[in-house]
Amino acid sequence: MTQRKAVALISGGLDSMLATRAVMEQGVHVEGINFFTGFCVEGHTHAIRKQDRAKPKRNNALWVAEQLGIRLHIVDIVEEYKDVVLNPQHGYGANLNPCLDCKIFMVGKAREWMEANGFDFIITGEVIGQRPKSQRKQTMPIVARESGADDLLLRPLCARNLAPTVPEREGWVDREQLFNFSGRSRKPQMALAERFGLEDYAQPAGGCCFLTDESYSRKLADLWQHRGEKRYELDDIMLLKVGRHLRPRPHFKLIVAREEGESRFLQGYRKQFTYLETLSHGGPLTLVEGDELSAEDLTLAARIVARFSQGRDAECVEVAITQPGDVEPRRLSIAPLPADDVEQSWYV
Ligand code: SF4
Repeated sequence: MTQRKAVALISGGLDSMLATRAVMEQGVHVEGINFFTGFCVEGHTHAIRKQDRAKPKRNNALWVAEQLGIRLHIVDIVEEYKDVVLNPQHGYGANLNPCLDCKIFMVGKAREWMEANGFDFIITGEVIGQRPKSQRKQTMPIVARESGADDLLLRPLCARNLAPTVPEREGWVDREQLFNFSGRSRKPQMALAERFGLEDYAQPAGGCCFLTDESYSRKLADLWQHRGEKRYELDDIMLLKVGRHLRPRPHFKLIVAREEGESRFLQGYRKQFTYLETLSHGGPLTLVEGDELSAEDLTLAARIVARFSQGRDAECVEVAITQPGDVEPRRLSIAPLPADDVEQSWYV
C-alpha cells in the first residue's frame, strides 16, 4: 500500500501539534508548513525586549516540527497576505484580525503546496467552537470551500463532529481514531498531549499574532488613517511592534524606544527616518515618521524626547536631530516638555 502524505499547518501552538501527531500515529507521512505574515509575535519581539527575555526565544513552529520529527517548510507570504489584512471579505474580529479570511488564505496556500509537491491531503488543528469567529461550526465549511481544499482538509481534533473527508472515506486514516473535541475547554487537548507524552508546548494561540492585539491594531488603524489609505510595508508593521508611539501633530509621529534593546533595533532605521538622540543625558533613540517637518515640529519632537530622557528634570537637554541625507546632526539645547504638556491623546 502506498504511504499517504499530508501537509500540516503548523502554527507553533498545541492544537496543530496534536493534530499532526494524531495523523502521524496512523502511519501517514506528514510535513509541516508555516507562514510568515510579518505579524507574528514570537522571535522578533521576544528577542528585543528585556521583559520578554525570560520567554524562550525559539521559533515555536520550528520547535514543534523538531519535537514531532517532521520537516517544516516556512513560507514567506508577506506580500500576498496584505490583501487579506486590507480587504477581508469576511471582515475583522475584535481587533484588526481577519481570522476567517486568514484561515481560508493559509489553507488555500497549503492546498497549492500540496498539489505542487504531490501530497494527498491537508491537516489543521482547528477545533469547533474554540475561537469566537473563525472556528464556529458554520465557518468550517467556508474555510474548506473557499480555500479550494474541500474535503481534502482534515481536522483530526474535531473530525468526528464533521462529515467524513476524503482521507477518512478512502481509509487513508481511520476516523474512529480521530477526535470529537469542541468548545473552548483545553482539557481534552491537555489529556491528549499527556497521552502522546508531550510535556512542553507553547501556550494556546491568540498571543501568536499581533493583529489580535488591541493596542497594535490601534496603531495600525492610526497609520492608515494618517496615510489617507489602507497600505503598509513590512517595515511599517515591524515598527508598530516597537516603542511608544506618539502623534503630537497629525502629520508626524514619534516612535520612542522604551529601552536599550528597542533603541538598538530602531538604529537600523536611521537612514530612512529623521531621528533624535539626547547628547547631554541618557535617553531613548526616537524616530520621526512624517514629511515636511517644520523647525517648530522638530523643536516639539526634541522637547518630547528630552521629556523621556534622564534629563527630564534638567533645565536644558542637548538633543541631536539628524534628517535623511544630513552629514552632521543639528544640535538643539532645549527644555524638556513638562509632563503635563504631554497630552494623553498623543499616545497612539
Ligand atoms: S490570529 Fe492572526 S494568524 Fe491566527 S487566524 Fe487570526 S489573523 Fe490569522
